[in-house]
Amino acid sequence: MLTIRDHQTGDLFDRWAFLGTKRRELLERSWASVFRQHLLANLPVEKLAPYFKSDDGRPTKDLHVALGVLILQQMFDLTDTRTVEAMAFDTAWHFALDLRADSDAYFCERTLRNYRHTVIALSLDAVLFKGLTDQLIMAYGVDTTKQRLDSTALRSAMRNLTRLGCVVETVSKFLRELARTHPDLHAQADPETIRRYVEREGAGCFALATPSESKRRLPEAGLDLANLVFQYRPTAARELPSFALLERVLTEQFEIAPDDGGSSSRKVRVKEPDEIPCDNVRNPADPDSSYNTYRGQGYLAQFMETYQEDDATPMAGEEVLPAKPDLITHVAVNKMTQHDCDALEPALADAKDRDIQPQRLLGDTHYGPQENIQKAAGLGTAVIAPAQTPRGENAGRLTLEQFELNEQGEVLKCPGGQTPESVSSGAERMQARFDATICERCPLKTSCLIAPELKRGKKVARIQYTRERVATRERRLAERSDEFKEKYRWRAGIEGTMSRLKHQMGLNNLRVRGRKAVRYVVNMRALGLNILRCKACKAA
Ligand code: SF4
Repeated sequence: MLTIRDHQTGDLFDRWAFLGTKRRELLERSWASVFRQHLLANLPVEKLAPYFKSDDGRPTKDLHVALGVLILQQMFDLTDTRTVEAMAFDTAWHFALDLRADSDAYFCERTLRNYRHTVIALSLDAVLFKGLTDQLIMAYGVDTTKQRLDSTALRSAMRNLTRLGCVVETVSKFLRELARTHPDLHAQADPETIRRYVEREGAGCFALATPSESKRRLPEAGLDLANLVFQYRPTAARELPSFALLERVLTEQFEIAPDDGGSSSRKVRVKEPDEIPCDNVRNPADPDSSYNTYRGQGYLAQFMETYQEDDATPMAGEEVLPAKPDLITHVAVNKMTQHDCDALEPALADAKDRDIQPQRLLGDTHYGPQENIQKAAGLGTAVIAPAQTPRGENAGRLTLEQFELNEQGEVLKCPGGQTPESVSSGAERMQARFDATICERCPLKTSCLIAPELKRGKKVARIQYTRERVATRERRLAERSDEFKEKYRWRAGIEGTMSRLKHQMGLNNLRVRGRKAVRYVVNMRALGLNILRCKACKAA
């Protein structure tokens, strides 16, 4: 039976008077007051309500309390056991959740797990983060016109496996699930395979393989994997999630010889590393995670937050206004293989939908391809991000930035001081032609853009470039200005937010696996950080 209590109507008597003045003031200045005052009544209980019967069965917990507990658990990075204790005995939790019945204060771990699974399955974590963050933005009058965006790598609770380890764990996972769900089919599995992959005892089991043996034994494991796939594909076992994983690992890691004539003559070839897709399964415990050479294995989380240019020291006698909190406005958990530049448009679209679109957005070089700048400008946001270093600059070669151009992008003068013989421009491409005999005598000729033309021995040497390259050149030149540096210096502040999320909010040490669960934790902890930031502002 559904329970939704009224948290908007006030009490006739103060239920917290027993705390005394000092403790009551402390509570009013705490995160609990922020939660109770701005968020509790706005929890989207109506989205959870359809999943419970309104007039039948045991009463549910008050749905406000159920959702609130899940937020507080992630905000303080607590285990289920610690959450149940906090819920039962912590006065600040009771105050924050406006506990109105003793029965609401007791959650068993299973109840907590069930609510969490429902919220994850319904993707309510994103609804909670967005809806409640918007409430905080409104309540604290946060200016969203200036924001900054960055990403960080997150690792779910899984260990690094070798390729052999991944195959062994995948086979083991399938056989264990088969034993649970289809004992009759499990009885048909080769006992030797079960011994080596599940029981892992006796000679020849893969758990005893040293790292140096791992590569040598991979074909053997691949053959066992292929035999299992061919044996169980025609059976009901093909419906199991672990069988889908078995097939995926087989396809990603191995190639089966085309003249496959059965298990006795079956041959598999181990694929070379460059033949394997970069989002391959690297650990069957978390098949959603992916790998990036630079960042490692896991997920890539995007965070966008507001910022204020507020580091000015007040003059003597000047009124110091209370600082507004910087709030995280957008969160996304993507595959590690997604590039940052592809995350900009969804972040702006999300902010636009919620009417909190920034007019100025700061990001690092990865967010700043010319195409992104133009798209964001079309949406009404000026993206301030440095352009990539021009190709050849680090090697000491000249770039278009050293040529003098007019407003139309035509070359007026080269770095050697030569005026082009002629210039021409089309819809996309432009070019300038120089007298090669002068270039041959130029001390810059080996590092000049024109060097390849001179090597071909042409009388007229030309450089070609695009209009997009001209726009990028203008950006690069503008980046040298003090005005750009003054605007861009505020981007660095988001590194502190990343550090806080990872070390204070615990994103560096996730206890979950799978994209949905990781997304749930990231959304909830970003919301938790927003609450703590509002509390800091309230307490200031
Ligand atoms: S090589 Fe020719 S185009 Fe290049 S800087 Fe020298 S004179 Fe100018």
